[in-house]
Amino acid sequence: MKTPESRAKLPVRLIKRIAVSQKLRADLLLKLTEQRKRLDNLIEGSMLATWEWNVQTGETRFNSYWAKIIGYSLEEISPVSIETWVRFAHPDDLKNSNELLQKHFARETEFYSCESRMKHKNGSWVWIRDTGRVVEWTADGQPLMMFGVHVDITAEKQRSEQLERFFSVNLDLLCIADTSGNFLKVNKAWEDILGYSVEELMEQRFLDFVHPDDIETTLLQMQKLADQDAVLNFVNRYRCKDGSYRYIEWRSHPYGTTIYAAARDITEHVETEKRIREISIRDPLTGIFNRRYIYERLEELRAEHERTGKAFAISILDIDHFKHINDQHGHLAGDHILKEFARAIGGHLRPYDLLGRFGGEEFIVVLQNTDSVQANQIVERILSAIRAQSFEYERQLIRFTFSAGVSGSCEESEGANSVESLIGKADARLYEAKRTGRNKVVG
Ligand code: GH3
Ligand code: MG
Ligand code: MG
Repeated sequence: MKTPESRAKLPVRLIKRIAVSQKLRADLLLKLTEQRKRLDNLIEGSMLATWEWNVQTGETRFNSYWAKIIGYSLEEISPVSIETWVRFAHPDDLKNSNELLQKHFARETEFYSCESRMKHKNGSWVWIRDTGRVVEWTADGQPLMMFGVHVDITAEKQRSEQLERFFSVNLDLLCIADTSGNFLKVNKAWEDILGYSVEELMEQRFLDFVHPDDIETTLLQMQKLADQDAVLNFVNRYRCKDGSYRYIEWRSHPYGTTIYAAARDITEHVETEKRIREISIRDPLTGIFNRRYIYERLEELRAEHERTGKAFAISILDIDHFKHINDQHGHLAGDHILKEFARAIGGHLRPYDLLGRFGGEEFIVVLQNTDSVQANQIVERILSAIRAQSFEYERQLIRFTFSAGVSGSCEESEGANSVESLIGKADARLYEAKRTGRNKVVG
C-alpha cells in the first residue's frame, strides 16, 4: 500500500496517471452496474425463469419466475439448492435430464437442453423446456458455474399430444416426409398395412419400399412436390414386410421441402377391378378372349398398321358338323370339345397372337407381324394337328375337323382396310371352305 507520504514523493506525471486509472475504474463499475440493471430488467420484462448453479458446491439460485412456473413464491421454496430441483422434477424424467447434463459436462453438446415435467403446487405436472450452459470451468476442466432458463411448454405439449393421438387413431396412412425421399413421421396405420414397425419405416427412405416398376413415376411426382405442386390420386405399389406389394393411393401437399401426405391401401379395389376387367374380356366356357375384346384389339392393330405398316392377319375357324357332336355325344361333350379345341389352337400360337371365341363353335385367331401366306401356313398346321387328334370325353373318342378362312391387313386397299372388311373377307373364305367340301383352309 502506498501511503500519502509515499504518493507525495511520486512524480506529478505518475500521480496524474493514477488519477486517470481510478476514473476509468469508476466508469467501468458504473457501466457494469448499468449493464446488470439492464439484464435484470430484461429478465423481469421477459418473465424468464432463470437458474444459476455451482456444479461443484451444489449452491443454486433461482429467480421468482422459476418458482412461479410451479405455483410457488421464491420465499415458499427457500432455502434452495440443487435438491430443490430434484424434489420438484418428475422422477421418470430425471434420468434423461442427468444423461443430457453429463453429455454437456463432457463437452459433447454445446448446450444442455431437456424437456421434463415438474410438480405444480396444485398437484398437476408442468412441462418445462430446460436450457442451460456451463459458462465457467475449473482449472482442471470440471464444470463450475452453469446458467439456464425454464420455459413452460405445457400448452405446446398438450397440443402436440392431441395431434399425436389423432395421428395414431387415424385409419388412413399418414406421413410427413421430405422432398429428398425421407420419412419424417408415419402413423401406426402403416404397421397394420405393410407389417413394418414405425421405427423400421423411419430408418429407410420411402423410395426403398416402392415397386421397381413404379420408381420412375414416383420420382416424377416427387419432382412435382419439390416444385410446390400438390399430388392428388397418385397410385404406386409398396413392398410389405412379407415381400408382397400393396397398391397405395396418395394425396400429398408440399410446404417447402416438407411433404404432408395421406394415403390409402386400395389393393382390394384394384384387384376387384382387375378381376372384373378379366371377366369382361373373356369367354366363360373356354377362358379365351371374347368377341368384343378381339374387336377392340383389332381396331388398335389396324390403327398401328396404318401408322407403321405393321402387318397382321386373321383367321376364322369353324368346327365342321359340330351339331353332330352335340347330337351324338351330348351337349356336355360338345362343351368339352369347344374347350379342348381352344386349348389345341392356343398351343400353336405365339405369346403375342390372340385367340378369341367368335360365336358358338367359331373361333378367331389374330396373328401379329404376319402376312396372309404365313397365316395360311399356321392355320394349315393347326388343321393337320386337329385331323390327327382324338379327343376323349367320358371314355368316348371324338374326332372332328374344321374349316377356316384367312385374311391379312396387307391385302386391303388403302382406305378400305376396316376391321369389318377384314373379318368379312375371312368369313366369306370360311363359307367358301364349307361350300367346297369342309376340312380345309381358304386364304
Ligand atoms: P357346319 O359344318 O356347317 O359348321 O355345321 P355345324 O353343325 O358345325 O354348324 P351349325 O351352325 O349348323 O351348328 C352349330 C351348333 O353349335 C349349333 C349349336 O347348338 C352348337 N353350339 C353353339 N354353341 C354351343 C355351346 O356353347 N356348347 C355346345 N355344346 N354347343 C354349342
Ligand atoms: Mg360349324
Ligand atoms: Mg358355325
